[in-house]
This record gives sequence, C-alpha cells and structure tokens, in this order.
Amino acid sequence: MSRKKKIHFGPAGKPRNFKGTMGEVPAELKRLKLDALEIEQVRRINISKEAAEKIREEAKKNKIILSLHAPYAINFASEKENVIEDSKKRLLDALRLAHWLNARIVVFHPGYYGKRSPQEALKLLIEGLKSVYKNAKKEGLSPLIGPETMGKLSQLGSLDEIIEVVKEIPQSAPVIDFAHLFARTKGKIRERRDYEKILSLIEDELGSKYLDGLHIHFSKMEYGDKGERKHLPFGQKAGPPFLPLAELLIDYGIEATIISESPLLEEDAIVMQRIVNGVKRKSKRETLLKLE
Ligand SMILES: [Zn+2]
Repeated sequence: MSRKKKIHFGPAGKPRNFKGTMGEVPAELKRLKLDALEIEQVRRINISKEAAEKIREEAKKNKIILSLHAPYAINFASEKENVIEDSKKRLLDALRLAHWLNARIVVFHPGYYGKRSPQEALKLLIEGLKSVYKNAKKEGLSPLIGPETMGKLSQLGSLDEIIEVVKEIPQSAPVIDFAHLFARTKGKIRERRDYEKILSLIEDELGSKYLDGLHIHFSKMEYGDKGERKHLPFGQKAGPPFLPLAELLIDYGIEATIISESPLLEEDAIVMQRIVNGVKRKSKRETLLKLE
C-alpha cells in the first residue's frame, strides 16, 4: 500500500518572519525544517539570471524544491489580442526564469471568461499555451507549465478545465489549489471522499504519473456567492479540512509538494507538516484535528 513517498512543504514567497534576501531564504527554510519554496513573481518578473543562479545554488545546497508563480497579469481568454500576446510573453519569461532557477513548475492563473463562453475561453487558453510550449521547447526550457485551479466563478480554471488543458499541452501538469476548489464549489470539500474524487479524476483522465509530484496549494478559505473571498489561516476551524487530504496522500503513497498560501505562510506550512507527521505516527485524530 504505502510506498513511503515524501510530501514536501514550504511557503508561497519569503517567510513572513524573515527579513533577509531571496538568496538567503533556502537556508532559512532548512532551519525551519521545510523543503519547498514557491518564488512569487506575481507583480512582475524582477529576478535577474545572475540572482536566479545564486538562489538555485542555495536551494540545491539546502535541498529545497523550487517552483515559480508567474505574474497575475495573464489572461489567455482576453478579448484583446495584445493581452493574449503579452500573456504568452509573460509566461515564457516566467518559464525562462524558472529554468535558470531549476524550478520544477511554473504556476499561473489562466484568465477570465469575460464575455466568452467557457468552451471558447478554454479553446483560446489551449491555443495560447500550445504557442508558449512551442517556444519553450525551441529554447530547451525544462520547467513544467502549471495551470492552477481558480477560486472565482469568473475565472477560467475549474478542475475539469485544468485537466483538459493538461491533456492538450505536453510538458504541463495540473496545479491543484484546494482552497480555490473549495471556494469554487462553495464548500463541497468536506471529507476524504471529496479529496478522493479529485485525485481519482486526475488519475483517470491524465494517468497516475500526474499524481506523483503533484503540485498543491493549500490554505483555509472564506468564500461567497462568487467564489473565493480570502485565504484564511489554520486555527479558526475554517474549511477545507486538511487532515483527510494528509491521510489520503499517505495511504496512497503520493509524493506531493504542498505550498502554503495561508496569511501565516511558513507557520501554516509547519502546521500542515505536523499534521502529516502525526498521521504517519498514527497520532490520535482528535489531537490532529485541533491543529486545523
Ligand atoms: Zn495562484
């Protein structure tokens, strides 16, 4: 049953309580006993090749797995041709930076439906990504293209849509943001069965190799009629529940990277790691539930 695969944990961006440079973050994460880092370039890309190579060396030395979050200003379903062209360029720039960093995957938000039908928006997204992939391949860029499940109903990025995209784009992998899926489905992630459905869909539609190394974003979430409102910290008894996901990943022996998008970044990455370690040690469920 259990293949004892490792689950990696880390923050989305610089730890909250750390004032050093980006190049010093890997050593800080090692000190915190974390082993993953998502580098946030969500406003714009501002890390030079030279700086990226320094971060890469530090990450290697401290055994930190890197990923990169591309700028928010990406919309492959825009009604404006120039916005789509800029989106392709921004994602390619992010892939190039991720290559210098030796980051495994570039996470990005696909865009908004706007006035388009979901089918039309999805078609444009796939077309746009095919072009990005072609150029990335030409340059020999190795990172995966990682479309993320999105939390607002106005945003392109349901689980089904992300799976369709990954089917069409070589060198891509789904990024599963469970807080976003929780918001998008208005709270329909309540127990193990709900997580099982999500992971089975990925396995059935894409293949089991997509579960290995699955890139996950996790935090608690407040949602409303339109979906996502805001990311919440652990300790307030908000959903989605983390314990059933931890149990499932361990029972199925899935190697995953879990990035904390909690307002308490590294602190909640550590809480999630404690829950996973508690499951491995077969600690009492009631004790672990108190951490949620
Ligand atoms: Zn994101």
